[in-house]
Amino acid sequence: MSFDLAARLAERRTANLYRQRPLLESPQGPLVQVDGRQLLAFCSNDYLGLANHPQVIEAWRAGAEKWGVGGGASHLVIGHSTPHHQLEEALAEFTGRPRALLFSTGYMANLAAVTALVGRDDTVLEDRLNHASLLDAGLLSGARFSRYLHNDAVSLSSRLRKANGNTLVVTDGVFSMDGDLADLPALCGEARLKGAWVMVDDAHGFGPLGATGGGIVEHFGLGLDDVQVLVGTLGKAFGTAGAFVAGSEELIETLVQFARPYIYTTSQPPALACATLKSLELLRSEHWRREHLNALITRFRQGAEAIGLELMTSATPIQPILIGDSGRALQLSHLLRERGLLVTAIRPPTVPAGSARLRVTLSAAHSLEQLELLLEALAECWPLLATQDGSVADA
Ligand SMILES: *Cc1c(COP(=O)(O)O)cnc(C)c1O
Repeated sequence: MSFDLAARLAERRTANLYRQRPLLESPQGPLVQVDGRQLLAFCSNDYLGLANHPQVIEAWRAGAEKWGVGGGASHLVIGHSTPHHQLEEALAEFTGRPRALLFSTGYMANLAAVTALVGRDDTVLEDRLNHASLLDAGLLSGARFSRYLHNDAVSLSSRLRKANGNTLVVTDGVFSMDGDLADLPALCGEARLKGAWVMVDDAHGFGPLGATGGGIVEHFGLGLDDVQVLVGTLGKAFGTAGAFVAGSEELIETLVQFARPYIYTTSQPPALACATLKSLELLRSEHWRREHLNALITRFRQGAEAIGLELMTSATPIQPILIGDSGRALQLSHLLRERGLLVTAIRPPTVPAGSARLRVTLSAAHSLEQLELLLEALAECWPLLATQDGSVADA
């Protein structure tokens, strides 16, 4: 009869699944001010430390002075300005693809690409651990939608056999909540056998992976024939905001003509594109950021294993500590917070039931000393967690 929102909210609370937004009162960085306290954070996606970089900020400021603040209209009306166009050209060159198209968010880029490419009578096959935006895109497309077992080329192959129409295989490049890499050589091989296209969302691979930060396709040396649709987001390692799709001339023109989440929205502020042009330059050229990040990753895994924590198979800055129970994950997050560390607990439905975790993320902006502080706190908190039951208040 009416919306019983109170009951829904109460139920979520009881299940230890209630979400709260920590209030950030400082810029992104290893040391943040949150809810009135200074904390050392290990949960942002600013993997290369560019979100608060002075040169990126300066590019933004200069961009705003030259181009103003608002995008003003959609790209097809009068919102496609010179900085947007320059950024698209730079991203095409960076990814080694004929063209790239700029979007305001990764969520929209994914909705746009999938819905423009497949519809009724077609098939979309997705990894069951894909990012929510890819799963939503598959549902919205109206295509026959099926999820294959995580990173499993055999499972994909059996679904490809039953596929009809144009078939799009969609996967995260680096899985956002696990940190592992898609087995693209095997997945692309299966797709190619069946004439299916592959779309990779490499939101977490661009920046940390590849010799010049070109992400998973650079890491595996894959081209346009292997991955026809390549998505990157700009809010993670790039440190700014927005997203892009890179691919053939025909792919990009198809998106411009038919992708509703591209057409019916205002362009991002042009000054933002100016900032991203600068962060792209830093991301490509400052290889020391990747080297330092890799040193942090190696040291974290070593230290965490010595404590007896259960890590996942990840060689990326995403280093989740698997807990299982949501209450216990929240509890570990609380214990760390009492010691001045911020690591968010990730719970269902973001991850599958029974696989709550602390999603530790590392950034080139962290020092080795800061990482040692995290390891010391984990060594102290982990035994406390084991001896208490999982019932705690909300995060
Ligand atoms: C963050 C993320 C997105 C969404 O990108 P936004 O620009 O934040 O909307 C899409 N895909 C993956 C894998 C992500 O991690």
